[in-house]
Amino acid sequence: MLQTLAGLLLRQPAAASRSAAVRSLSSGTVNVTAPLNFWGGKRRTSREKGNGENVYEPATGRVLCRLEPCGPSDVDQAVEAAKTAFGPWSKMSGMERAKVMIEAARIIENRREDIARMEVVNNGKSITEARLDVDSGRLCVEYYAGLACGLAGQHVQLPGGSFAYTRREPLGVCVGIGAWNYPFQIAAWKSAPALACGNSVVFKPSPLTPVTATLLAEVFAEAGAPEGLFNVVQGGQDTGRLLCHHPDVAKVSFTGSVPTGQKIMEMASKGVKPVTLELGGKSPLIIFEDSDLQNAVRGALMANFLSQGQVCSNATRVFVQSDILPEFVDEVVKRTGAIEIGDPLLETTRMGALVSRSHLDQVLGFVERAKEEGAVVLCGGTPFVPSDPKLKGGYYMTPCVLADCKDDMTCVREEIFGPVMCVLPFESEEEVLQRANDTPLGLAAGVFTSDVQRAHRVVQHLQAGSCFINNYNITPVEVPFGGFKMSGIGRENGQVTMEYYSQVKTVYVEMGDVDSLF
Ligand code: NAD
Repeated sequence: MLQTLAGLLLRQPAAASRSAAVRSLSSGTVNVTAPLNFWGGKRRTSREKGNGENVYEPATGRVLCRLEPCGPSDVDQAVEAAKTAFGPWSKMSGMERAKVMIEAARIIENRREDIARMEVVNNGKSITEARLDVDSGRLCVEYYAGLACGLAGQHVQLPGGSFAYTRREPLGVCVGIGAWNYPFQIAAWKSAPALACGNSVVFKPSPLTPVTATLLAEVFAEAGAPEGLFNVVQGGQDTGRLLCHHPDVAKVSFTGSVPTGQKIMEMASKGVKPVTLELGGKSPLIIFEDSDLQNAVRGALMANFLSQGQVCSNATRVFVQSDILPEFVDEVVKRTGAIEIGDPLLETTRMGALVSRSHLDQVLGFVERAKEEGAVVLCGGTPFVPSDPKLKGGYYMTPCVLADCKDDMTCVREEIFGPVMCVLPFESEEEVLQRANDTPLGLAAGVFTSDVQRAHRVVQHLQAGSCFINNYNITPVEVPFGGFKMSGIGRENGQVTMEYYSQVKTVYVEMGDVDSLF
């Protein structure tokens, strides 16, 4: 997800010149050997020996490192470290917290290239996108550093000179649980507002992409945060469950699939803990016949093929008004066929590898099922083998455009989470709105039209948390992001998120005598 392309791509020349030293995967490899857990200011090994699993490099299929999941005693230690840090951190003024966060942002900026390269090696996305993700994480830390200074309550005048005031207080130890598609960005998006409000954090990345959250932990420690302020525990669902049930955890902020989100909410309910849930989507993009066709095509590609299509907010149901369907489809297919696939560390690559072998197989399976159900593959949807022999074990596929899709097909109803665009014709505004909203999910939606009144009218009726007019998948940290319906609860980014990481205390002050009934 992108801050704004226009702003961030301006930064590319500097990054590109620094990355002259960036080797392509075909000429060099990276191994991660340092422990990946981090609490109390240090990297730590897990005590749960023997349960480890391999972590793979998606671009080559080779083993990148071993992951030793954290068990109960590791989780206890990480939460204890976070509790210890919460004391001094929550007592600091917003200005004092902001100072540490601004320093953290500066360190992220200095390490932009290293963090981005590591993200590529662990996740498989292109270096161009990984740099933008690191920028988005940094901007989020900077943005909430600014808001930390303004966190304040209200003063309410009451009869007889009495009054009340409210304080916005932190919650305590907040847990973040992340998905694998934006590993560094998710860790930053969850920690920045939490820390700005005075909380401490224990973060668990996806076991598929454990590496860059630990780099963020090192950044906060180096920026002068109290030991234990931002901690990382590694592992899968068992470690996640330990965190959710931990009695010293005050809140759980989760990014991932709907079924896991439901389990998180259930676990949190046992301790009556608040949750933020950023879940899946099956978002619609509506393209009216009066759209600027080139912009609409660019928007549709951005809505489907960023991060190999592994983006929660992707608009994978592209509704196109019948009059312009042939031209639109021609242009989309032409541009999709020209997408450069391959070594994600090369500057020219626009599509790298999917995150894992099993996920690739699942996405290809969706394409097969779509064909069986009557959809027509206009391009892509097949495994891709790069010519470089070192990349042959990687998890690549060609981006796919499906036509002749019907609203009840599996490819139109279920989240595929891969580079598969479904094109659906429509006739009228009323019809398309009904079809666009006919899903239990409601993360995002988009509309392309040159009729300003129609744009706002349509958006008003779309059941989605983030709506885009004449663009798609732009997520500036200054504006809230999150879902309607089964796509989630709560928001990330924007001012409103300060409310999700703090609680209101009301203080009543009596200025007269107590009027007692007894
Ligand atoms: P997932 O639900 O399988 O896993 C997400 C995280 O939850 C991982 O860290 C995993 O280890 C952990 N987990 C799994 N089971 C758990 C349990 N029982 N208790 C505690 N933790 C548990 O999702 P994923 O495959 O990593 O990510 C893909 C999904 O994430 C897609 O559905 C996508 O739409 C969604 N997503 C949403 C957003 C958003 O902002 N709305 C962003 C990125 C991804």
